Amino acid sequence: MIFSRIIHHLKTQNWTAVAIEFVIVIAGVVLGFQVTAWNEERQDRIQEGAYLARLHAEIVDAEAGRLGLLDNVTRRVDHASAVVEVIYDGRDPATLPDGACTSISRLGIFYLEGYALPTLDELLATGNLGIIGDDALRRALISYRGFADTAADRFSDIRVDMPNLVRPYPHLFSTVPDRQSGQLRRAATDCDYLAMRDDESFGADLLDVAARAGFFRMTALAEEDRRLAAIHAALDSLLGSHDDEARHSEAGMTP
Ligand SMILES: [Zn+2]
Repeated sequence: MIFSRIIHHLKTQNWTAVAIEFVIVIAGVVLGFQVTAWNEERQDRIQEGAYLARLHAEIVDAEAGRLGLLDNVTRRVDHASAVVEVIYDGRDPATLPDGACTSISRLGIFYLEGYALPTLDELLATGNLGIIGDDALRRALISYRGFADTAADRFSDIRVDMPNLVRPYPHLFSTVPDRQSGQLRRAATDCDYLAMRDDESFGADLLDVAARAGFFRMTALAEEDRRLAAIHAALDSLLGSHDDEARHSEAGMTP
């Protein structure tokens, strides 16, 4: 309709009216684009908010799930260094903490979970990561993904020829089945620390496995922890005050 009016103005050589009609057409097109852009921006912000909430729930779960792992490995490494003092520095075995014997019997058992963040996978698979407007969060997510993708390969060597101390030195441990929480495991109730002190090979293997566990704890588990915490901090600052303290402390009490 507007074009038939323009043609009419052209025929009557009413240039002012032609100019006004053109301005109206162009303004209409610009406004149309602008409204579409506003709508898209609004949809993106709504979608971003949903992604942030999902990521936060997943990160809280991941942190809660891994607390037990980091604590376990940390306790075993601490116990192992106390046993090293017994064997090499003449520390009295009676001063060892409870569970030290079980700790060194399980010292060679550790694994890297590589916690999945399904929302992050979805953002990467759909090429939608750009919807996350916050630079710090985007960087933290990419950094975690890179670490998780390569960690299993980088740390698999650490377990090659890992001495599982109970097997080559069964005479130094008294072991019993441990059926805590419905799971059958081996518990060492008693260690012959004085015999361990006299056995040079045992000392060497203990140092070997303790060093590997300590390295793994520091460069794998603690690094993973740091990266997850960076994502959580960035999310917390975007989401403002929220109540995951209860969940954090609940998780902290898990044995
Ligand atoms: Zn939080």
